[in-house]
Parts: sequence; structure tokens; C-alpha cells
Amino acid sequence: MSTADASEVDVRRLALDQMRGWYCALCRARLFADRSLGRFEITFGRTTETVELWACAPSCEAVRQATTRRSA
Ligand SMILES: [Zn+2]
Repeated sequence: MSTADASEVDVRRLALDQMRGWYCALCRARLFADRSLGRFEITFGRTTETVELWACAPSCEAVRQATTRRSA
């Protein structure tokens, strides 16, 4: 089973909402249950900030399947 993890995060493409932990850093879904991916260093111009990123729990795949079932 392949579960997306922190190594797949492309911090350069994250939206502010994803950095704030409102949306999944991996699949951009709205987060209701989340898991920490750990802390990432993100560079804004000349400054670098350490931001904790969050993703769907238990996994993006599980959340997607649950969502599909609900709307079917
Ligand atoms: Zn996700």
C-alpha cells in the first residue's frame, strides 16, 4: 500500500491555506482529521520559516474513498 508522505510535499507549490493547516499539504482536501507531516523549512524571498504541515488522516486515499462513498 502506498501512502503519500512528507517526502512528496513540494513546499514551493503550497498555498497559504495548506501551510496554515486548513488544507491537506499533499492533496489539498479540506482537513477534518489530520496528521502531522513534520516541520518544513519554507523560504519566502530572503526569509526562511519553519512550518508544520498537515495531511489527511489516516491517509489521503482513505479520505478520498470515504468522500466518494458519501456522494455516490
Ligand atoms: Zn490529503
